[in-house]
Amino acid sequence: MKRICVFCGSSMGSLDDFKIAAKKVGEYFVENDIELVYGGANVGLMKIVADEVLAGGKKVVGIMPHLLLEKEVEHKGITELIAVDTMSERKEIMSNISDGFIALPGGLGTLDELSEIFIYNQLRISDKPIGLLNTCGYYDNLLKFIDSGVTYGFIRPEHRQNIIADDNIENLIKRMYSYEPVVMGKWIKDIKMESNGNSQ
Ligand code: AMP
Repeated sequence: MKRICVFCGSSMGSLDDFKIAAKKVGEYFVENDIELVYGGANVGLMKIVADEVLAGGKKVVGIMPHLLLEKEVEHKGITELIAVDTMSERKEIMSNISDGFIALPGGLGTLDELSEIFIYNQLRISDKPIGLLNTCGYYDNLLKFIDSGVTYGFIRPEHRQNIIADDNIENLIKRMYSYEPVVMGKWIKDIKMESNGNSQ
């Protein structure tokens, strides 16, 4: 993975551990010669990751819609800033130019980006590894929700297995490197049959 896209908070969060984790992610990118793709902002955990990668002399690509550029939250020191028209276009470019995705703790914006990339994986639009950096168990409840979706038959176990979570960045990326997607060939056929009253 030469380029990894990071989704994370535009806020700092309430614990120092979140900031420490963001800094470690940046350090890991520098030490392992990985380029950063991210939302392009100069705020929150995003700023910490970007600043660390830049300080280490590595490339940082930010992708930002005009509506946020107008609010002047862009990071002026990054290597490349790609301006786009819509939030959807931003996610599409993030997905196309990155070799993998990591979500650090964040809010609804992070959840939106993460959900979209999960769906790309589910629909096999993209087959790149997705990692959750579960600092201080921040994503435990999301993982519980996904597990509950499996229990109640709304999420396929195979899709759940494609989600990698770890609280340590080195372990997370190591596991992302050995990612082999669990492929479901016929699940769309299955849900069509189920919806026609034919459960198997
Ligand atoms: P949130 O988790 O709600 O703080 O949103 C963070 C995620 O949404 C980031 O990964 C960004 O791509 C995007 N985002 C939300 N707010 C901003 C902002 N002010 N500047 C740039 N990107 C943002």
